[in-house]
Amino acid sequence: MTTTYAIPLRTRFRGITVREGVLLHGVAGWGEFSPFWDYDAATCVPWLRAARESAEDGWPEPVRTTVLVNCTVPAVGPDRAAAIVRVSGGCRTAKVKVAERGQVLADDLSRVEAVRDALGPEGRVRVDANGAWSVDEAVAAIGGLSRFGLEYVEQPCATVEELAAVRRRVDVPIAADESIRRAEDPLRVAALDAADIAVLKVQPLGGVRACLDIAERIGLPVVVSSALETSVGIAAGVALAAALPELPYACGLATVGLLERDVVADPLLPVDGALEVRRPEPLGELPVVPAGTPERWRDRLAAVDRLIRQDREA
Ligand SMILES: [Mg+2]
Repeated sequence: MTTTYAIPLRTRFRGITVREGVLLHGVAGWGEFSPFWDYDAATCVPWLRAARESAEDGWPEPVRTTVLVNCTVPAVGPDRAAAIVRVSGGCRTAKVKVAERGQVLADDLSRVEAVRDALGPEGRVRVDANGAWSVDEAVAAIGGLSRFGLEYVEQPCATVEELAAVRRRVDVPIAADESIRRAEDPLRVAALDAADIAVLKVQPLGGVRACLDIAERIGLPVVVSSALETSVGIAAGVALAAALPELPYACGLATVGLLERDVVADPLLPVDGALEVRRPEPLGELPVVPAGTPERWRDRLAAVDRLIRQDREA
């Protein structure tokens, strides 16, 4: 059984205004398949494996009952940034998007300053450049932003080599995200000493067990993050965070609030800065999706499924 959802985002994120995906139901529960539309079928293979793991196999036993999370501040102005932190469900860590196309370093500085002020000196502030800086730009930007006290900088540049170069020139820890989830070899960041922290996302990396395996082999502290899923997909991220032997940082799983609605009655939203380790079920009836959306997703699922079958037969 599958069901399609389409939910507007409160703020434009990653260039999209509506989040779409499919929920799959199996013997273990519900799984979410929601790759972004700019990904081709081959890129979507791990996303479908992750959804099927959730639906068919379930997840390993948790070793904790709650998971600390960060709030996420998109590339908005300082007033809005501070407001997002204030209504974040008690998150003591904020991740701030920086290096947005069309903006300048002064925009990042005023946004990060506003977030630091809103959190107070005890809060933790991390920034995510999504690979947009060159090495020199990263070093200069990190130099400017460090005055607000940064926990780490996520994916300052696009390539693993650049991450390694930045890491040698700054004192702030470096986290690798795209360099792990979009890489042929996710372990290369460790081999090149390119990062201090590994950001792992369940869908792009092929499921909770696949992520636990990467975590063990990469030998870096892990931050589990979402791919902007509904609470069905977030539950898989929570399951990963709950199963990791060590969890020293807040996870990027408090993103349901970026969606205008959710598909469950009791969304995975933070309370006192943490998510409960639980698995909410979708509502009986989901909001109506625009005409043609279920058909597009049905075709996409079929195309990705075909690749998985071919792979199995090869
Ligand atoms: Mg990131």
